[in-house]
Amino acid sequence: MSETKQTIDRKETVETKPFIYDYTLEQLQGWMKENGEPAFRAGQLFDWLYVKRVTSFEDMSNLSKPLREKLDAQFRFVTLSEITRLESKDGTVKYLFGLHDAHAIETVVMRHNYGNSICVTTQVGCRIGCTFCASTLGGLKRNLTAGEIVAQVVTAQQLLDKTEERISSIVIMGSGEPFENYDATMAFLRIMIHEKGLNIGQRHITVSTSGIVPSIYKFAEENTQINLAISIHAPNDALRSKLMPVNRRFPFDDVMESLRYYIAKTGRRVTFEYALIGGVNDRPEHAEELGDVLQGLLCHVNLIPVNHVPERDYVRTPREDIFEFQRILEKKKINTTIRREQGHDIAAACGQLRAKHMESAR
Ligand code: SAH
Repeated sequence: MSETKQTIDRKETVETKPFIYDYTLEQLQGWMKENGEPAFRAGQLFDWLYVKRVTSFEDMSNLSKPLREKLDAQFRFVTLSEITRLESKDGTVKYLFGLHDAHAIETVVMRHNYGNSICVTTQVGCRIGCTFCASTLGGLKRNLTAGEIVAQVVTAQQLLDKTEERISSIVIMGSGEPFENYDATMAFLRIMIHEKGLNIGQRHITVSTSGIVPSIYKFAEENTQINLAISIHAPNDALRSKLMPVNRRFPFDDVMESLRYYIAKTGRRVTFEYALIGGVNDRPEHAEELGDVLQGLLCHVNLIPVNHVPERDYVRTPREDIFEFQRILEKKKINTTIRREQGHDIAAACGQLRAKHMESAR
């Protein structure tokens, strides 16, 4: 009996230890000082984590044995187990990773001629409720910690290390609303951009939000070069509320005002993501209205042909109509691109793999 109890106790302690990937270099420096170690040890630790990318404290050979043991007693590594891995003909790889508590998340690595990018998830599920999105189908389960977001990049990079490839850009466009998990997202970003770590260029990182207004104001004060994208998907308040219930919490005009503030404050261009849904938001009058709303704003529109989600009955906009939508915006001098699609053969749309996984688990 007592033996069983001991094992359980030990297991519980192990599972409540924080993740080492949760901490920024500055926080690790603080920890070192508190533990009577010189601050530069944190730099060595950071190097093991993000440059050499080892996954055990034991391997950190330039740290003393007592220090390694102390680290091991207080922190743990995030272990992402690969539940599914789908590889597209175009090189896109989609992972379904299992977390320590049996939840599953999706991460996608995309190959471009300019380098490799990764799309990371910030929450298990999502509570935003966008009507066209698979990620939100089962609601929000929990936030990811900063370290669990970091682990997606480190794990993918470890796999790319085998072919001497590097992840050079990040989009926070996986499942979840990063601006409802703001602190973890910011810590993740600080870790990613640190020159002593993975050193991902700030301009090569984009965080996408459904329009959580208070967080947009906060983000404007962060003093980074990280790109901001906003899922707008409609040119006015009424239609946006139909597609995105979050618009009732943070109405269209408030979102636009926060973005004007962000642009004035940072001098940075904002990307508007607009998923074209056949017959719903893709008519020429929608393009006209969107063009008028965005007039004079330092911005860029990215048109996304809606991905089919089996649970939703939305249809795609015909190719010609997408081009027409773009032409109307460009006539109004709004810089507009059409998202190049990748990984179509592997159901790479947000949340689809996890949705399937949950379905089969039931
Ligand atoms: N919650 C954040 C991050 C998710 S990013 C946000 O809303 O921005 C994922 C992007 O893909 C968002 O622009 C989202 O609206 C879009 N998206 C979701 N489901 C989609 C679908 N079925 N087809 C096309 N785009 C979709």
